[in-house]
Amino acid sequence: MTTSGQFERYAEWWGNPDLQWALAKLGVPERPYWHGEHGIVPTAKRIVALLRGAHRLASQTDGQRKSAVATGSPPASAPPAETRLATPAPNARHSTSIFAVEMLPADNGDCLWIEYGDPSRPRRILIDCGAVSAARTVASRIESLGAPSERVFELFVLTHIDADHINGVLPLFGNPNLNVRFEDIWFNGWHQVGRFLGIKQGEDFSKLLEDPARSLPWNRAVTSKGEKHPAPIALSSDKPPPMFELPGGLRLTLLSPSADQLKRLGREWRQVLLELEPGKAMLGRRRPPPPVTDFAKFDLEALARKSVTKDTSVANGSSIALLAEFDEHAILLTGDAHADMLVKSIEQPQRERGRPGQKLKLEALKLSHHGSANATTIPLLELLDCPRYLVSSNGNIFSHPDREAIARVILHGGHQPTLYFNYRSPLNELWDERVLRDRYGHKAEYPSEGKAGLLVRL
Ligand SMILES: [Zn+2]
Repeated sequence: MTTSGQFERYAEWWGNPDLQWALAKLGVPERPYWHGEHGIVPTAKRIVALLRGAHRLASQTDGQRKSAVATGSPPASAPPAETRLATPAPNARHSTSIFAVEMLPADNGDCLWIEYGDPSRPRRILIDCGAVSAARTVASRIESLGAPSERVFELFVLTHIDADHINGVLPLFGNPNLNVRFEDIWFNGWHQVGRFLGIKQGEDFSKLLEDPARSLPWNRAVTSKGEKHPAPIALSSDKPPPMFELPGGLRLTLLSPSADQLKRLGREWRQVLLELEPGKAMLGRRRPPPPVTDFAKFDLEALARKSVTKDTSVANGSSIALLAEFDEHAILLTGDAHADMLVKSIEQPQRERGRPGQKLKLEALKLSHHGSANATTIPLLELLDCPRYLVSSNGNIFSHPDREAIARVILHGGHQPTLYFNYRSPLNELWDERVLRDRYGHKAEYPSEGKAGLLVRL
Protein backbone atom coordinates (compact mmCIF):
# COMPACT_ATOMS: atom_id res chain seq x y z
CA MET A 1 0.00 0.00 0.00
CA THR A 2 2.91 2.31 0.76
CA THR A 3 4.25 1.80 -2.77
CA SER A 4 0.80 2.40 -4.21
CA GLY A 5 0.43 5.56 -2.12
CA GLN A 6 3.82 6.85 -3.26
CA PHE A 7 3.03 6.17 -6.92
CA GLU A 8 -0.33 7.85 -6.49
CA ARG A 9 1.31 10.95 -5.10
CA TYR A 10 3.84 11.01 -7.92
CA ALA A 11 1.18 10.41 -10.56
CA GLU A 12 -0.98 13.09 -9.02
CA TRP A 13 1.86 15.59 -9.17
CA TRP A 14 3.61 14.65 -12.41
CA GLY A 15 1.41 15.82 -15.19
CA ASN A 16 -0.33 18.23 -12.85
CA PRO A 17 -0.38 21.62 -14.62
CA ASP A 18 0.41 23.41 -11.36
CA LEU A 19 3.63 21.45 -10.84
CA GLN A 20 4.61 21.92 -14.48
CA TRP A 21 3.91 25.62 -14.22
CA ALA A 22 6.00 25.85 -11.03
CA LEU A 23 8.84 23.87 -12.65
CA ALA A 24 8.69 26.02 -15.78
CA LYS A 25 9.06 29.08 -13.59
CA LEU A 26 12.17 27.48 -12.04
CA GLY A 27 13.59 27.03 -15.54
CA VAL A 28 12.76 23.33 -15.86
CA PRO A 29 10.74 23.01 -19.05
CA GLU A 30 8.52 20.10 -19.92
CA ARG A 31 10.48 17.14 -21.31
CA PRO A 32 9.17 15.06 -24.21
CA TYR A 33 9.91 11.83 -22.32
CA TRP A 34 7.38 12.80 -19.65
CA HIS A 35 4.56 12.21 -22.12
CA GLY A 36 3.54 9.93 -24.98
CA GLU A 37 2.28 6.40 -24.69
CA HIS A 38 5.39 5.14 -22.85
CA GLY A 39 6.25 8.39 -21.10
CA ILE A 40 7.00 8.60 -17.39
CA VAL A 41 3.72 10.28 -16.45
CA PRO A 42 1.32 7.97 -18.34
CA THR A 43 3.31 4.91 -17.20
CA ALA A 44 3.11 6.01 -13.57
CA LYS A 45 -0.61 6.59 -13.96
CA ARG A 46 -1.06 3.14 -15.50
CA ILE A 47 0.76 1.60 -12.54
CA VAL A 48 -1.48 3.50 -10.15
CA ALA A 49 -4.53 2.32 -12.06
CA LEU A 50 -3.30 -1.28 -11.84
CA LEU A 51 -2.59 -0.95 -8.13
CA ARG A 52 -5.97 0.61 -7.56
CA GLY A 53 -7.80 -1.75 -9.89
CA ALA A 54 -9.55 1.27 -11.38
CA HIS A 55 -9.87 2.37 -14.99
CA ARG A 56 -10.19 6.09 -14.71
CA LEU A 57 -6.52 7.06 -14.69
CA ALA A 58 -5.71 4.48 -17.35
CA SER A 59 -8.26 6.06 -19.67
CA GLN A 60 -6.40 9.35 -19.43
CA THR A 61 -3.36 7.77 -21.01
CA ASP A 62 -4.86 6.05 -24.01
CA GLY A 63 -3.72 6.95 -27.49
CA GLN A 64 -6.48 9.48 -27.99
CA ARG A 65 -5.02 11.90 -25.49
CA LYS A 66 -3.39 14.93 -27.04
CA SER A 67 -0.60 15.93 -24.73
CA ALA A 68 0.52 19.51 -24.24
CA VAL A 69 3.78 18.58 -25.95
CA ALA A 70 2.06 17.08 -28.97
CA THR A 71 -0.01 20.20 -29.56
CA GLY A 72 2.93 22.53 -29.07
CA SER A 73 1.06 24.26 -26.29
CA PRO A 74 2.58 26.21 -23.46
CA PRO A 75 3.87 23.98 -20.69
CA ALA A 76 1.43 25.29 -18.15
CA SER A 77 -1.52 23.29 -19.28
CA ALA A 78 -2.78 20.11 -20.83
CA PRO A 79 -6.04 20.03 -22.79
CA PRO A 80 -8.90 17.87 -21.65
CA ALA A 81 -8.42 14.35 -22.93
CA GLU A 82 -11.04 13.06 -25.32
CA THR A 83 -11.75 9.50 -24.34
CA ARG A 84 -13.86 6.67 -25.61
CA LEU A 85 -17.47 6.99 -24.56
CA ALA A 86 -17.75 4.23 -22.03
CA THR A 87 -19.46 3.44 -18.81
CA PRO A 88 -17.71 5.63 -16.26
CA ALA A 89 -15.63 3.56 -13.87
CA PRO A 90 -17.43 3.15 -10.56
CA ASN A 91 -14.71 4.86 -8.59
CA ALA A 92 -15.10 4.89 -4.90
CA ARG A 93 -15.63 8.55 -4.21
CA HIS A 94 -12.94 9.94 -1.97
CA SER A 95 -14.85 10.40 1.23
CA THR A 96 -13.73 14.01 1.38
CA SER A 97 -14.06 14.99 -2.28
CA ILE A 98 -16.64 17.49 -3.43
CA PHE A 99 -18.72 18.17 -6.54
CA ALA A 100 -20.68 21.39 -6.24
CA VAL A 101 -22.39 23.82 -8.58
CA GLU A 102 -22.95 27.41 -7.61
CA MET A 103 -25.48 29.39 -9.60
CA LEU A 104 -24.03 32.87 -9.21
CA PRO A 105 -26.41 35.79 -9.51
CA ALA A 106 -26.41 36.64 -13.23
CA ASP A 107 -29.65 38.61 -13.61
CA ASN A 108 -31.77 36.79 -16.18
CA GLY A 109 -28.77 34.72 -17.36
CA ASP A 110 -26.36 31.95 -16.36
CA CYS A 111 -23.02 31.98 -14.55
CA LEU A 112 -22.13 28.61 -13.03
CA TRP A 113 -19.07 28.15 -10.83
CA ILE A 114 -18.37 24.43 -10.47
CA GLU A 115 -15.84 22.83 -8.11
CA TYR A 116 -14.79 19.20 -7.81
CA GLY A 117 -12.16 17.07 -6.12
CA ASP A 118 -10.20 17.78 -2.96
CA PRO A 119 -12.08 20.51 -1.05
CA SER A 120 -8.83 21.97 0.25
CA ARG A 121 -7.62 22.42 -3.34
CA PRO A 122 -10.64 22.00 -5.59
CA ARG A 123 -10.48 22.07 -9.36
CA ARG A 124 -12.90 24.41 -11.09
CA ILE A 125 -14.79 25.10 -14.26
CA LEU A 126 -16.84 28.17 -15.12
CA ILE A 127 -19.83 28.13 -17.45
CA ASP A 128 -20.98 31.45 -18.96
CA CYS A 129 -20.78 34.89 -17.43
CA GLY A 130 -24.22 36.25 -18.07
CA ALA A 131 -24.21 39.73 -16.60
CA VAL A 132 -21.65 42.49 -16.11
CA SER A 133 -22.37 42.24 -12.39
CA ALA A 134 -21.63 38.49 -12.59
CA ALA A 135 -18.16 39.38 -13.96
CA ARG A 136 -17.58 41.46 -10.83
CA THR A 137 -18.75 38.61 -8.60
CA VAL A 138 -16.49 36.11 -10.41
CA ALA A 139 -13.56 38.53 -10.28
CA SER A 140 -13.82 38.99 -6.53
CA ARG A 141 -14.16 35.23 -6.06
CA ILE A 142 -11.02 34.72 -8.18
CA GLU A 143 -9.12 37.30 -6.16
CA SER A 144 -10.12 35.52 -2.96
CA LEU A 145 -8.46 32.33 -4.25
CA GLY A 146 -5.08 33.84 -3.37
CA ALA A 147 -1.81 33.70 -5.31
CA PRO A 148 -1.93 33.47 -9.13
CA SER A 149 -0.88 29.81 -8.94
CA GLU A 150 -4.20 29.15 -7.18
CA ARG A 151 -6.27 31.07 -9.73
CA VAL A 152 -6.74 28.23 -12.16
CA PHE A 153 -9.81 26.90 -14.00
CA GLU A 154 -9.64 23.65 -15.91
CA LEU A 155 -12.17 25.05 -18.38
CA PHE A 156 -14.33 28.04 -19.27
CA VAL A 157 -17.36 27.37 -21.46
CA LEU A 158 -19.27 30.14 -23.22
CA THR A 159 -22.32 28.11 -24.19
CA HIS A 160 -23.59 30.55 -26.82
CA ILE A 161 -23.69 34.18 -27.80
CA ASP A 162 -26.91 35.38 -26.17
CA ALA A 163 -26.52 38.48 -24.01
CA ASP A 164 -27.66 36.68 -20.87
CA HIS A 165 -24.66 34.34 -21.20
CA ILE A 166 -21.99 36.60 -22.72
CA ASN A 167 -22.51 40.03 -21.14
CA GLY A 168 -19.93 39.54 -18.39
CA VAL A 169 -17.39 37.67 -20.52
CA LEU A 170 -15.49 40.64 -21.96
CA PRO A 171 -15.33 42.50 -18.63
CA LEU A 172 -14.06 39.31 -16.99
CA PHE A 173 -11.43 38.43 -19.59
CA GLY A 174 -10.50 42.07 -20.11
CA ASN A 175 -9.62 42.53 -16.45
CA PRO A 176 -5.81 42.80 -16.49
CA ASN A 177 -5.40 42.36 -12.76
CA LEU A 178 -7.01 38.99 -12.30
CA ASN A 179 -3.97 36.79 -13.06
CA VAL A 180 -6.30 33.90 -13.74
CA ARG A 181 -5.44 30.92 -15.92
CA PHE A 182 -7.94 28.91 -17.96
CA GLU A 183 -6.55 25.61 -19.23
CA ASP A 184 -9.05 25.60 -22.09
CA ILE A 185 -11.85 27.82 -23.35
CA TRP A 186 -14.75 26.33 -25.29
CA PHE A 187 -16.58 28.81 -27.49
CA ASN A 188 -18.03 28.64 -30.98
CA GLY A 189 -17.16 32.01 -32.51
CA TRP A 190 -17.39 33.26 -36.05
CA HIS A 191 -14.72 31.00 -37.51
CA GLN A 192 -16.43 28.00 -35.98
CA VAL A 193 -19.78 28.88 -37.53
CA GLY A 194 -18.17 29.86 -40.80
CA ARG A 195 -18.85 33.57 -41.19
CA PHE A 196 -16.97 36.77 -40.61
CA LEU A 197 -19.92 38.43 -39.03
CA GLY A 198 -21.08 38.42 -35.53
CA ILE A 199 -22.51 40.15 -32.59
CA LYS A 200 -20.02 42.62 -31.34
CA GLN A 201 -19.32 40.79 -28.09
CA GLY A 202 -18.85 37.44 -29.84
CA GLU A 203 -16.45 39.02 -32.30
CA ASP A 204 -14.57 40.87 -29.59
CA PHE A 205 -14.25 37.70 -27.54
CA SER A 206 -12.88 35.88 -30.62
CA LYS A 207 -10.34 38.68 -31.11
CA LEU A 208 -9.35 38.54 -27.48
CA LEU A 209 -8.87 34.76 -27.64
CA GLU A 210 -6.71 35.15 -30.76
CA ASP A 211 -4.55 37.92 -29.32
CA PRO A 212 -1.01 36.47 -29.38
CA ALA A 213 -0.08 38.57 -26.35
CA ARG A 214 -2.70 36.75 -24.27
CA SER A 215 -1.94 33.24 -25.61
CA LEU A 216 -5.27 31.94 -24.36
CA PRO A 217 -6.22 28.35 -25.14
CA TRP A 218 -9.28 27.98 -27.39
CA ASN A 219 -11.16 24.74 -28.09
CA ARG A 220 -7.89 22.90 -27.55
CA ALA A 221 -9.72 19.73 -26.62
CA VAL A 222 -10.90 19.31 -30.23
CA THR A 223 -8.23 21.13 -32.23
CA SER A 224 -5.33 19.34 -33.89
CA LYS A 225 -1.90 20.80 -34.30
CA GLY A 226 -1.55 22.85 -37.45
CA GLU A 227 -5.20 23.83 -37.81
CA LYS A 228 -5.49 27.46 -38.80
CA HIS A 229 -8.43 28.12 -36.53
CA PRO A 230 -9.71 26.30 -33.46
CA ALA A 231 -12.14 23.53 -34.43
CA PRO A 232 -15.79 23.90 -33.38
CA ILE A 233 -17.22 22.26 -30.29
CA ALA A 234 -20.01 20.31 -31.96
CA LEU A 235 -21.44 16.83 -32.35
CA SER A 236 -20.80 15.03 -35.58
CA SER A 237 -23.65 13.16 -37.19
CA ASP A 238 -21.71 9.94 -37.72
CA LYS A 239 -19.99 9.63 -34.35
CA PRO A 240 -21.17 9.12 -30.78
CA PRO A 241 -21.11 12.18 -28.52
CA PRO A 242 -17.49 12.87 -27.58
CA MET A 243 -16.40 12.57 -23.97
CA PHE A 244 -13.56 14.58 -22.45
CA GLU A 245 -11.79 13.95 -19.21
CA LEU A 246 -10.46 16.94 -17.32
CA PRO A 247 -7.57 16.73 -14.86
CA GLY A 248 -8.87 15.43 -11.56
CA GLY A 249 -11.36 13.10 -13.21
CA LEU A 250 -14.32 15.29 -14.25
CA ARG A 251 -15.84 13.76 -17.38
CA LEU A 252 -17.73 15.92 -19.86
CA THR A 253 -19.92 14.44 -22.59
CA LEU A 254 -21.04 16.86 -25.29
CA LEU A 255 -24.80 16.75 -25.95
CA SER A 256 -25.31 19.94 -28.04
CA PRO A 257 -24.92 21.59 -30.52
CA SER A 258 -25.02 19.47 -33.65
CA ALA A 259 -22.85 20.48 -36.58
CA ASP A 260 -26.07 21.38 -38.43
CA GLN A 261 -27.16 23.73 -35.66
CA LEU A 262 -23.83 25.53 -35.84
CA LYS A 263 -24.04 25.75 -39.64
CA ARG A 264 -27.50 27.21 -39.29
CA LEU A 265 -26.15 29.82 -36.91
CA GLY A 266 -23.56 30.67 -39.57
CA ARG A 267 -26.19 30.98 -42.30
CA GLU A 268 -28.53 33.07 -40.20
CA TRP A 269 -25.90 35.03 -38.33
CA ARG A 270 -26.99 38.36 -39.71
CA GLN A 271 -30.56 37.73 -38.63
CA VAL A 272 -29.39 36.49 -35.22
CA LEU A 273 -27.30 39.63 -34.93
CA LEU A 274 -30.41 41.76 -35.40
CA GLU A 275 -32.40 39.69 -32.91
CA LEU A 276 -29.67 39.95 -30.31
CA GLU A 277 -29.22 43.71 -30.45
CA PRO A 278 -29.94 44.98 -26.96
CA GLY A 279 -32.90 47.10 -28.09
CA LYS A 280 -34.41 44.20 -30.04
CA ALA A 281 -33.94 41.78 -27.17
CA MET A 282 -36.04 44.06 -25.02
CA LEU A 283 -38.79 43.82 -27.65
CA GLY A 284 -38.98 40.12 -26.80
CA ARG A 285 -39.77 41.06 -23.21
CA ARG A 286 -42.60 38.93 -21.88
CA ARG A 287 -45.13 40.02 -19.35
CA PRO A 288 -45.27 37.94 -16.20
CA PRO A 289 -48.43 35.87 -15.79
CA PRO A 290 -51.04 37.18 -13.35
CA PRO A 291 -50.45 36.16 -9.74
CA VAL A 292 -52.19 33.04 -8.49
CA THR A 293 -55.05 34.11 -6.23
CA ASP A 294 -56.75 30.78 -5.60
CA PHE A 295 -54.38 27.87 -5.05
CA ALA A 296 -57.31 25.48 -4.65
CA LYS A 297 -58.02 25.95 -8.34
CA PHE A 298 -54.38 26.01 -9.43
CA ASP A 299 -54.25 23.25 -12.03
CA LEU A 300 -50.72 21.91 -12.33
CA GLU A 301 -51.78 19.04 -14.62
CA ALA A 302 -53.26 21.44 -17.16
CA LEU A 303 -50.11 23.56 -17.10
CA ALA A 304 -47.88 20.52 -17.62
CA ARG A 305 -50.03 19.29 -20.51
CA LYS A 306 -49.95 22.61 -22.40
CA SER A 307 -48.67 22.11 -25.91
CA VAL A 308 -45.02 22.96 -26.46
CA THR A 309 -44.09 25.59 -29.00
CA LYS A 310 -40.79 24.53 -30.51
CA ASP A 311 -37.88 26.83 -29.72
CA THR A 312 -36.82 28.26 -33.07
CA SER A 313 -33.97 30.41 -31.76
CA VAL A 314 -30.84 29.47 -33.70
CA ALA A 315 -28.70 31.07 -30.98
CA ASN A 316 -30.25 28.85 -28.31
CA GLY A 317 -29.86 25.86 -30.62
CA SER A 318 -26.13 26.55 -30.86
CA SER A 319 -25.72 26.15 -27.06
CA ILE A 320 -22.98 23.89 -25.80
CA ALA A 321 -24.67 21.38 -23.46
CA LEU A 322 -22.64 19.01 -21.31
CA LEU A 323 -23.21 15.99 -19.15
CA ALA A 324 -20.68 16.50 -16.32
CA GLU A 325 -19.80 13.42 -14.26
CA PHE A 326 -17.52 13.17 -11.28
CA ASP A 327 -17.21 9.77 -9.65
CA GLU A 328 -20.78 8.47 -9.51
CA HIS A 329 -22.40 11.92 -9.58
CA ALA A 330 -23.72 13.65 -12.68
CA ILE A 331 -25.29 16.95 -13.66
CA LEU A 332 -26.69 18.00 -17.00
CA LEU A 333 -25.54 21.52 -17.90
CA THR A 334 -27.78 22.60 -20.71
CA GLY A 335 -27.10 26.25 -21.52
CA ASP A 336 -30.20 27.19 -23.51
CA ALA A 337 -30.12 24.04 -25.66
CA HIS A 338 -33.23 22.83 -27.48
CA ALA A 339 -35.20 20.09 -25.71
CA ASP A 340 -35.44 17.83 -28.78
CA MET A 341 -31.67 17.99 -29.26
CA LEU A 342 -31.10 16.99 -25.64
CA VAL A 343 -33.55 14.10 -26.00
CA LYS A 344 -31.74 12.88 -29.10
CA SER A 345 -28.28 13.17 -27.59
CA ILE A 346 -29.14 11.60 -24.24
CA GLU A 347 -30.44 8.46 -25.90
CA GLN A 348 -27.18 7.80 -27.71
CA PRO A 349 -24.79 7.72 -24.71
CA GLN A 350 -27.24 5.46 -22.93
CA ARG A 351 -27.05 3.05 -25.89
CA GLU A 352 -23.24 3.38 -25.99
CA ARG A 353 -23.09 2.56 -22.30
CA GLY A 354 -25.21 -0.54 -22.71
CA ARG A 355 -28.28 1.01 -21.11
CA PRO A 356 -30.64 1.48 -24.06
CA GLY A 357 -34.04 2.68 -22.97
CA GLN A 358 -32.93 3.24 -19.39
CA LYS A 359 -33.23 6.58 -17.69
CA LEU A 360 -30.08 8.66 -17.39
CA LYS A 361 -29.24 8.90 -13.70
CA LEU A 362 -28.44 12.45 -12.64
CA GLU A 363 -27.95 14.27 -9.38
CA ALA A 364 -29.20 17.49 -10.97
CA LEU A 365 -30.48 19.09 -14.16
CA LYS A 366 -29.81 22.77 -14.83
CA LEU A 367 -33.02 23.62 -16.64
CA SER A 368 -32.34 24.77 -20.17
CA HIS A 369 -33.19 28.36 -21.10
CA HIS A 370 -33.85 29.39 -17.50
CA GLY A 371 -36.94 27.20 -17.19
CA SER A 372 -38.60 28.30 -20.39
CA ALA A 373 -41.74 26.28 -21.21
CA ASN A 374 -40.39 25.11 -24.57
CA ALA A 375 -37.08 23.87 -23.14
CA THR A 376 -38.39 21.57 -20.39
CA THR A 377 -40.61 18.96 -21.98
CA ILE A 378 -42.18 15.77 -20.65
CA PRO A 379 -40.23 13.54 -23.12
CA LEU A 380 -36.97 15.07 -21.84
CA LEU A 381 -37.88 14.67 -18.15
CA GLU A 382 -38.99 11.10 -18.70
CA LEU A 383 -35.52 10.20 -19.98
CA LEU A 384 -34.01 11.23 -16.65
CA ASP A 385 -33.82 9.82 -13.15
CA CYS A 386 -33.11 13.09 -11.36
CA PRO A 387 -34.05 14.51 -7.95
CA ARG A 388 -32.87 18.14 -8.32
CA TYR A 389 -33.67 20.90 -10.79
CA LEU A 390 -31.72 24.14 -10.99
CA VAL A 391 -33.14 27.39 -12.33
CA SER A 392 -30.91 30.39 -13.02
CA SER A 393 -32.87 33.62 -13.54
CA ASN A 394 -34.13 36.63 -11.65
CA GLY A 395 -37.17 36.66 -13.93
CA ASN A 396 -36.29 39.92 -15.66
CA ILE A 397 -37.17 40.53 -19.33
CA PHE A 398 -38.45 37.04 -20.22
CA SER A 399 -40.33 36.23 -16.98
CA HIS A 400 -38.52 32.94 -16.47
CA PRO A 401 -39.13 30.31 -15.25
CA ASP A 402 -42.41 29.49 -16.97
CA ARG A 403 -45.03 27.79 -14.83
CA GLU A 404 -45.46 25.08 -17.47
CA ALA A 405 -41.81 24.03 -17.10
CA ILE A 406 -41.97 23.84 -13.31
CA ALA A 407 -45.32 22.01 -13.44
CA ARG A 408 -43.69 19.38 -15.70
CA VAL A 409 -40.74 19.02 -13.32
CA ILE A 410 -43.05 18.55 -10.33
CA LEU A 411 -45.27 16.02 -12.10
CA HIS A 412 -42.72 14.23 -14.31
CA GLY A 413 -39.38 14.92 -12.63
CA GLY A 414 -39.36 11.93 -10.29
CA HIS A 415 -40.55 11.42 -6.72
CA GLN A 416 -40.71 14.67 -4.73
CA PRO A 417 -38.16 16.65 -6.73
CA THR A 418 -36.36 19.65 -5.28
CA LEU A 419 -36.30 22.96 -7.14
CA TYR A 420 -33.31 25.26 -6.68
CA PHE A 421 -33.60 28.94 -7.58
CA ASN A 422 -30.66 31.38 -7.50
CA TYR A 423 -33.02 34.31 -6.80
CA ARG A 424 -36.28 34.57 -4.93
CA SER A 425 -38.55 36.41 -7.34
CA PRO A 426 -42.25 37.15 -7.61
CA LEU A 427 -42.26 34.65 -10.49
CA ASN A 428 -40.78 31.69 -8.65
CA GLU A 429 -41.85 32.11 -5.02
CA LEU A 430 -45.23 30.51 -5.61
CA TRP A 431 -43.42 27.13 -5.72
CA ASP A 432 -42.66 27.61 -2.03
CA GLU A 433 -46.37 27.91 -1.16
CA ARG A 434 -47.16 25.42 1.56
CA VAL A 435 -50.44 24.39 -0.06
CA LEU A 436 -48.62 23.38 -3.26
CA ARG A 437 -45.75 21.64 -1.48
CA ASP A 438 -48.20 19.64 0.62
CA ARG A 439 -50.27 18.71 -2.40
CA TYR A 440 -47.42 17.67 -4.72
CA GLY A 441 -44.59 16.81 -2.33
CA HIS A 442 -41.91 18.86 -4.06
CA LYS A 443 -39.39 21.02 -2.22
CA ALA A 444 -38.12 24.47 -3.16
CA GLU A 445 -34.80 26.06 -2.16
CA TYR A 446 -33.96 29.75 -2.44
CA PRO A 447 -31.05 31.97 -1.39
CA SER A 448 -31.27 33.21 2.16
CA GLU A 449 -33.18 36.44 2.81
CA GLY A 450 -31.89 39.37 0.78
CA LYS A 451 -29.22 37.27 -0.98
CA ALA A 452 -28.84 35.94 -4.52
CA GLY A 453 -26.90 32.95 -5.81
CA LEU A 454 -27.17 29.37 -4.62
CA LEU A 455 -24.66 26.62 -3.97
CA VAL A 456 -25.85 23.08 -4.71
CA ARG A 457 -23.71 20.17 -3.52
CA LEU A 458 -24.07 17.07 -5.65
ZN1 LIG B 1 -30.15 32.24 -21.74
